[in-house]
Amino acid sequence: MQIKTPTETPVKVIDGRQLADVLIEEMTQEVNERIQQGLSQPGLAVVLVGEDPASTIYVRNKIRCAEKAGLFSLVKHLDASCTQKTLEDVVVELNEREDIHGILVQLPLPQHLSEARIINLIDPTKDIDGFHPVNVGLLSSGQAKLVPCTPLGCMEMLNREMGDLSGKHAVVIGRSNIVGKPMANLLLQANCTVSIVHSKTLEPEALCRQADILVAAVGVAELVDKNWVKPGAVVIDVGINAIDIDGKRKLVGDVNFADVAEKCRAITPVPGGVGPMTIACLIKNTLTAAKQRDM
Ligand code: NAD
Repeated sequence: MQIKTPTETPVKVIDGRQLADVLIEEMTQEVNERIQQGLSQPGLAVVLVGEDPASTIYVRNKIRCAEKAGLFSLVKHLDASCTQKTLEDVVVELNEREDIHGILVQLPLPQHLSEARIINLIDPTKDIDGFHPVNVGLLSSGQAKLVPCTPLGCMEMLNREMGDLSGKHAVVIGRSNIVGKPMANLLLQANCTVSIVHSKTLEPEALCRQADILVAAVGVAELVDKNWVKPGAVVIDVGINAIDIDGKRKLVGDVNFADVAEKCRAITPVPGGVGPMTIACLIKNTLTAAKQRDM
């Protein structure tokens, strides 16, 4: 999709929903081929603790997408008051199951449960979120096996939009373990020159204005306006922020879309940008885990 800015420069809106559909289509074919060749059907297990409405919707969307791609999937739904031991027993059982190639424990967990202990307990070869320290180490040493889904989805978008990223200056805003740090690592491995901007960075706008690729993963609604953006940059907006406009709830990104679209070459919308790609990459990681098991 292209939109005209006031200066009549066409700006490409990167359609994450359409791209995710393409990815799912490609993976469905691959899954069918595996099954025809007598290889295992990739299996995804999602563990949900409690009734958090957002987590429940995310899990439902993940399972729907897995089924569309022809995966075997199941949900282990535990009570919000379950003990650490109960949750750990479920993870151990899933680690041992031959028909499960990917395990995802939906975060955040209720406060009385230790997320770190659960992440560290998941078999790294089934860790499709890519959060286990083994997978973090493999990514940062250039031997990536399973990479966090959101940055993987962003890379897929950048590669399809820009081709070779070598020599580009990429600025990542945010340094979280789930988005910012793995994103910076992936861009580095794609031969970008990478800068990371975070909450203590001095003059973040000036640094961001040097970026050919700007990735915003902050969690502050519409923080990035056109003063942060170099003309012709490609802007990936990871943020999902709920704001209230005239009593109505609306989702916006970390980027002020209308303002930045005037200046950049391409931009992802919120919703409909990075979000659908994150789910598609979860399926991709489950397929990757199944293929790695075959080797
Ligand atoms: P986080 O809170 O863990 O990290 C935010 C980072 O932003 C921190 O590293 C912090 O240093 C930095 N930061 C905060 N204020 C800043 C400022 N004023 N200037 C520069 N840097 C600043 O968040 P996260 O988990 O990385 O998520 C970031 C956003 O992405 C959130 O809105 C989250 O909902 C969204 N998200 C979306 C998806 C998706 O699939 N689209 C997936 C994960 C996260």
